[in-house]
Amino acid sequence: MASSVNDFDLYRPSEEHDMLRDAVRSLAEAKIAPYAAEVDEEARFPQEALDALVANDLHAVHVPESYGGSGADALATVIVIEEVARVCASSSLIPAVNKLGSLPVILSGSEELKKRYLAPLAKGDAMFSYCLSEPDAGSDAAGMKTKAVRDGDSYVLNGVKRWITNAGISEYYTVMAVTDPEKRSKGISAFVVEKSDPGVSFGAPEKKLGIKGSPTREVYLDNVRIPADRMIGAEGTGFATAMKTLDHTRITIAAQALGIAQGALDYAKGYVQERKQFGKPIGDFQGVQFMLADMAMKLEAARQLTYAAAARSERVALGGGKEDLTFFGAAAKCYASDAAMEITTDAVQLLGGYGYTRDYPLERMMRDAKITQIYEGTNQVQRIVMARNLP
Ligand SMILES: Cc1cc2nc3c(=O)[nH]c(=O)nc-3n(C[C@H](O)[C@H](O)[C@H](O)COP(=O)(O)OP(=O)(O)OC[C@H]3O[C@@H](n4cnc5c(N)ncnc54)[C@H](O)[C@@H]3O)c2cc1C
Repeated sequence: MASSVNDFDLYRPSEEHDMLRDAVRSLAEAKIAPYAAEVDEEARFPQEALDALVANDLHAVHVPESYGGSGADALATVIVIEEVARVCASSSLIPAVNKLGSLPVILSGSEELKKRYLAPLAKGDAMFSYCLSEPDAGSDAAGMKTKAVRDGDSYVLNGVKRWITNAGISEYYTVMAVTDPEKRSKGISAFVVEKSDPGVSFGAPEKKLGIKGSPTREVYLDNVRIPADRMIGAEGTGFATAMKTLDHTRITIAAQALGIAQGALDYAKGYVQERKQFGKPIGDFQGVQFMLADMAMKLEAARQLTYAAAARSERVALGGGKEDLTFFGAAAKCYASDAAMEITTDAVQLLGGYGYTRDYPLERMMRDAKITQIYEGTNQVQRIVMARNLP
C-alpha cells in the first residue's frame, strides 16, 4: 500500500482503506471475537488472534515493503488496530506493540539492524516489545536507572524494565538505557535486546483490570552483554528516538480506543432494540436515544481527530516536515481514550444490570478502555505534551 505525501492531504480513508477495513472486520469477527471473553476470563495470551493475524499478514502491517512487510501507511495501521480492538482489545496489542517496539529501529536504526530485525517481524516469526518504563520512572521516563556500559565491542546492560507489553512472548526488545548519567535524557541510548541473550529474564504476569489477554511483565537485564552494533542510532539519541516513536504510536492507542468504543456502541445499539420495558423497546425512549446520539457523536469526533493525526504521521514518515505531529498524536490519544471511557461506561448503563455482568461483553470493554487513558503516557502527560506544542 504505497502512498505519496499528497495522498494524505485528506483525512478520508481511500477505497483501499475501506476494503482493508471490511477484510479485517470479517476476519476479526470470525477468528478473534469468539475467543475474546475466554481470553479475558482466563487472562491468557490470544494465540488464536496471533495465528489469524499472521496468516493474513496483519500482525505488523507497518513494516516497509523493502524489509519484507506490507508497507501499510499510518491510516491503514490504525484501521487494522481499530477493527481488532472492536472485538478484542487484548488482541489489538499484537499489531500495536509490534509497531511500538520496532519503530525505533525503523526511524533511527542502521540498515544492518533493519534487515536483521524487521524481516522476521514481517514474516510473523518474531514479535517486538518496547522497554521504556521502569518501577521508579513512569511519567518521568528520563529518570530511568537501567544502565548500558561500553566494554570493548559490547555494551553490558543492567536494570529492570516494568510494564512491558508482550514481554516473554516477543523475541525482540527495544531497550532504552543510560549510557551517560550526567546528561539525563541526552545520556540515554536505545538498543535491540533479544529474548535469548544471556541475562534476560521476565517477572510474573501482572494481574490487571483489563486487557487481561495481553501479557504485561517486568524485564530483568542482568549483565546482558550485546554487540555494540545493536545500538539504535548514535549514543545519546535513544530518548529522542523513544519520544519520536510515541508521536506516531500514540495514534495507534487512539485507534485502540476507537475500536473498543465502536464495539460497545454497536452492541448497545442492538440491545436497545431488543430489550423491552414499559411495553416497548427501550430504544424508543428519547432518554436512551439521546445517550446513543452523544456516544456516536463523541466517537466520530475522536475518529476524525485520529485520522487527521494518522495523516500527519504518514506525511512525516514520507519525509515531510515534523509539522504538528507531536500535538496531534497526543491530542488523538487523549481525546479518543477519554471518549472511549465515556462511551463504554454509557454502554454498560444502557444494558442496566445486565451490562454489569460478565454474561455481556460491555463490562470487559469498559475495563479495557481504561488502559488507553494510562499507557504511552497518561492523559495528564498528554496534556503537558499538547501544552508545550500548541499548534
Ligand atoms: C498494561 C500496561 C502496559 C504497559 N506497556 C508498556 C510497554 O510496553 N512499555 C513501556 O515502556 N511501558 C509500558 N507501560 C507503562 C506506562 O506507559 C506507564 O504506566 C505510564 O506511562 C505511567 O507511568 P506510571 O505507571 O509510573 O505512573 P506515574 O508516572 O507514577 O503517575 C501516577 C499519576 O501521577 C500523574 N502524574 C505524573 N506526573 C505528572 C505531572 N507532571 N503532572 C500531572 N500529573 C502527573 C499521572 O498522570 C498519574 O495519574 C504499560 C503500563 C500498563 C499499565
